[in-house]
Amino acid sequence: MARLGTHAAHPCHALPWRARISDREPARASGALVFSPRRAGSAPPARPADRRRRRRRGGADNGGDHPQSGGWGKLRTREPGAAFGDRRTRNAGGRNILRQRPPYPDPARIVTVHILEAARVLTGRGQVLTPGTVVLTDRRIVWVGLSRQLPKPWAAVPATARIRLPEATILPGLIDAHVHLSFGGAPRPPVALLATTRMEVAATIHAALRQLRDAGITTVRDLGAPRYIDSSTLADLDAGPRVLTATIPLTVAGGHCAGLGGAVSETAEIDQLVAANATRGADWIKVMVTGGFTTGGRSSPYEPQFTDDQLARIVTAARAHGLPVAAHAHGSAGIRQAVGAGVDSIEHCTWMTPDGFDLDHGVVREIVNRRIMVCPTINHHARDATGRLPWAVRREQLRVMLDAGVRLIPGTDSGIPQTPHDQYAYSLPIWTDLGYSAADIIELATAAAAQALRIDHLTGTLTAGHVGDLIAVPGDPMTDLGALTTPVVVATAGHLHYPDTTTTAEENTRP
Ligand SMILES: [Zn+2]
Repeated sequence: MARLGTHAAHPCHALPWRARISDREPARASGALVFSPRRAGSAPPARPADRRRRRRRGGADNGGDHPQSGGWGKLRTREPGAAFGDRRTRNAGGRNILRQRPPYPDPARIVTVHILEAARVLTGRGQVLTPGTVVLTDRRIVWVGLSRQLPKPWAAVPATARIRLPEATILPGLIDAHVHLSFGGAPRPPVALLATTRMEVAATIHAALRQLRDAGITTVRDLGAPRYIDSSTLADLDAGPRVLTATIPLTVAGGHCAGLGGAVSETAEIDQLVAANATRGADWIKVMVTGGFTTGGRSSPYEPQFTDDQLARIVTAARAHGLPVAAHAHGSAGIRQAVGAGVDSIEHCTWMTPDGFDLDHGVVREIVNRRIMVCPTINHHARDATGRLPWAVRREQLRVMLDAGVRLIPGTDSGIPQTPHDQYAYSLPIWTDLGYSAADIIELATAAAAQALRIDHLTGTLTAGHVGDLIAVPGDPMTDLGALTTPVVVATAGHLHYPDTTTTAEENTRP
């Protein structure tokens, strides 16, 4: 890692990506540089020095030179030997002083640079760069390309900022589209949570985030949390994965996961809970359209829990807050109902009836027509399933849906019993049973998942301007998907982590 001051020799000035002052990015508060594509034909963005001059000429805000005042756009002049705020500095004739460089890098203009070079880089857009290089500055990816084409200014960056991975592959960070951060693997999670304190749940969530991060998962969709968990709890871990959260799932009294606090019936209750979830920072609204297997009591996975009108109201309320709806649905009747209500994703989608299965081809066509995505929650031991949902049946259902054109995305339902958060990469080879190649599966777990979750403008591919979410794995995952289980470097929003790889893959595989 190297810290570089922004001055005329800074690499970004020689690149098509130029530093600019962002009006919106939260990174601004910390003084970080944000890189933005320069539109062809447009004037280059003003460099900080130009902005200072303009501001000076305009005569506005000439009192911002106290070191504590911080932030971009503040006047920062300092005559060597003179203290900040010294009137002599401000009154000493302007332009000459403004051209002087401080004797040390200005903290407000420091960027962190990491240059990762690997045997190959999979961009997630179908490109394989051999050997390839990715440049990260602060939170962002700023350059991706063939190593031999690394622009000279970046090539001159000190060796301490360069991470050489001559036998590894760099690819976008993995995305698990269905997890439960707060469940912790207890036998009946929604019930067990009732006997757990808020602090214990927060500790469970933080352990889950760390486990996910070290397993190379840089984004998760958390589909159901207790009522006292909000987006601030989920974001608390420094540099954990990005969490898209559904906060409290909507259900019925005594229904699936009612212990999380989301039982609703009347229209006003539905509207209130959806509004409260939006206030808590929900990215999705989760609704338990059918009962489930982990609640017990009178929760039946085969039967719908809501009326058509109630479900329609939930979708309408979510739309009013601009939020997509994820529908938990096992039984065929519930799947049919969810599709009719216009949800955005169907979770599990197991087409179950009390005594068998009923895959409705007409409903499958509607899923395709309405562009509803299906997350079939395939975990690492799905192939070994023999009980109520044997893999042979499941595989056939999924093939039928795929052949019809249904968009499937991977997710594990991690947090439920026997499904630890770090097993996502072990579940991915199972998708070869559905006809996917290794390259298809990598795309499914990165670019396609990001697109399905509507975050492909941020992550999912290695693209200049995107958030710095990536992993490096040993060898070539295109020939051996097992490589994804042992990431050696994980970057979450530009923060680098080095997972402990001393345990073997076998030790990592839990029952
Ligand atoms: Zn779930």
